Amino acid sequence: MVRFPEQKDYFVGVDSDGCAFDTMELKHRQVFIPQAIESLDLHDIDDEYRKVAESVNLYSRSRGANRFEALALCLDRLRLNRSLVKRVPDPDPIWAFVRSGQPLSNDSFAEYVETHDTDLMRRVLHWSSESNRRIAETVVDNPPFSGVREMLSDAHDFANTMIVSATPGAALRQEWGAAQLLADVDVIAGQEAGSKKTQLASAMETGFETDKALMVGDAPGDHAAADANGILFFPIVPGHEVNSWLELRAEGLARLREGRFRGSYQDGLLQAYYDALDGHRGA
Ligand SMILES: [Mg+2]
Repeated sequence: MVRFPEQKDYFVGVDSDGCAFDTMELKHRQVFIPQAIESLDLHDIDDEYRKVAESVNLYSRSRGANRFEALALCLDRLRLNRSLVKRVPDPDPIWAFVRSGQPLSNDSFAEYVETHDTDLMRRVLHWSSESNRRIAETVVDNPPFSGVREMLSDAHDFANTMIVSATPGAALRQEWGAAQLLADVDVIAGQEAGSKKTQLASAMETGFETDKALMVGDAPGDHAAADANGILFFPIVPGHEVNSWLELRAEGLARLREGRFRGSYQDGLLQAYYDALDGHRGA
């Protein structure tokens, strides 16, 4: 269970990639995608892979999905093209891992591969581990979106704050630490702490009322994790992140405190968010 240094009445959970930090595009375009082409030897179909991977990871409702799930989705998507069925590996063994109930972390995948040792699974492990290494090298001193610091500081005055993320904890500590944001963060929950749904559930076990707990995220999976715990959700709209953070600080936090967040306010935010995400399709 999560333990907060000082238990407060309110809770604010914040996702990291693509939400507090503008790192989604960078990580996918410069690391995950080229590394997959390398590790899975997709050089001859790199354009096709790139296009599918950008759509799956950045510009659709699967934005922000766990890396293993997203990779399996990409391979499935490519195999819909008949000319590629024989060329692209069948992701069934990856799906089996995703559905195994194991934490979807790099370490857990490495352990799983010991008993499910195939060429594909070894390549996927190489992709995941190499991506972690390259991200640690590439994504350094990355500033948070404007407004994140101020929002966190305001929120921390009355709420317990927690990073809720599928990124490895060590990477979170490095990124948030380098940006000097950790003073207003009570708990860091990363990949090792389970899914975001699980992370939020363990925060909720400490006793927050559902209408006094808010998750802030940029991905439909963040919304689903909040919903599964019955708590509130504030969407950071991809492409309009700074406005979203301003809105959260100026209006969202006050509504959280006053019990006026759920209902028409949250519904309006969600409508605008999903419209923006769906609008990216085919772009
Ligand atoms: Mg995110």
